[in-house]
Amino acid sequence: MTALHESTIATDELRPTRVEVDLDVLAENYRAIAAHVAPARVMPILKANAYGHGLVEVGRVVERLGAPYIGVAYLEEGLRLRQHGVRLPVLVLGGILGSQIPRFLEADLTLTASSVDKLRAIEEHAARAGRTATVHLKIDTGMERIGVHWYSAEMLLEESLRCRHVRVEGIFTHFANADARDLAHARLQLERFHETLGFYERRSLPPPLRHAANSGAIVQLRESHLDLVRPGVLFYGVRPTLEVAAAIPVRQALSWVTRVVYFKVVRAGQPVSYGGEWVAPAQTRVVTLPVGYGDGYARAMSGRAEVIVRGKRYPVVGRICMDQIMVSIGWDSAYNGDEVVLLGRQGAAGISIEEMAGWASTIPHEILTSINTRVPRVYRGGT
Ligand SMILES: *Cc1c(COP(=O)(O)O)cnc(C)c1O
Repeated sequence: MTALHESTIATDELRPTRVEVDLDVLAENYRAIAAHVAPARVMPILKANAYGHGLVEVGRVVERLGAPYIGVAYLEEGLRLRQHGVRLPVLVLGGILGSQIPRFLEADLTLTASSVDKLRAIEEHAARAGRTATVHLKIDTGMERIGVHWYSAEMLLEESLRCRHVRVEGIFTHFANADARDLAHARLQLERFHETLGFYERRSLPPPLRHAANSGAIVQLRESHLDLVRPGVLFYGVRPTLEVAAAIPVRQALSWVTRVVYFKVVRAGQPVSYGGEWVAPAQTRVVTLPVGYGDGYARAMSGRAEVIVRGKRYPVVGRICMDQIMVSIGWDSAYNGDEVVLLGRQGAAGISIEEMAGWASTIPHEILTSINTRVPRVYRGGT
């Protein structure tokens, strides 16, 4: 709490808008998922700045929790973890270019081999560098993003047995529809993945670490847990979609708060903000907050968003601007400096990431990853 207090003051001097991340909640979420999927293990997904929570800080917590692996999307995310001293194995899930391979080897990051050509390139680079590359093979079972199609996976697996400078540590696939109510396509993908894994059985070889489940599949498709699961949004305490009820007790770890920087009375009939789309129906008190779409507070939420002031919800009125929003508080009171909650809880009121996603007609993933780096992150707990 001391750390939070001090950094909050430091942030307030610069700008009152901030994201607060409770690292203890992330730890609880990790343990809840681990308990649910055991004996499978958990690889938290930290791509896109750990879904907006802060890559390095979350990486350190995940390491302290004793997780076996971290997953990220891009090479530079893995490099950043290494630069900040995170030693845990890191799998880069996304597609790669041959020119990136030496950087993977130097930083001891695990590569995704998504085609025979890429696997050969990894083998060649590793041989030249006198190193052993660690790879996970990527099988496309129906997402059609990256990976070898399940119907031609045998070539990749055979090639992997020939490699001398590559250690095939894992094999994985990714679901396109694991968060849907209808799981027929997810089940079909899992069946195709098992077909591919038959390769090892036929040769009496132990398969490498098998993984498939994202948040939707962790919650909905127990048979997909295999050796390792890859929770993203669930680790951050968000249900994958509103269709998927929370079967695992996770909580939102992130709050987004700001403070009132202006107070005024708007006369009846006066339009507010660009375009004048909202007109005060009666004389009303309006406060202005220093946050806008330039911070990731989506402009598409204009006319739908609400915030919490003094424990009560009020509507954002008029168009959301790049750096400011206006909130009508009726005839209630608020003062300059009052803390306002955009996401999270204040008193009995709360605004969830899922609800905000509804206002913006998007999914919680996009809400979290849209909160701009302009917004400072403040941490609580985690010791
Ligand atoms: C992003 C991602 C995940 C995590 O997805 P969530 O829906 O947030 O759980 C898992 N695996 C891969 C390959 C991903 O790209």
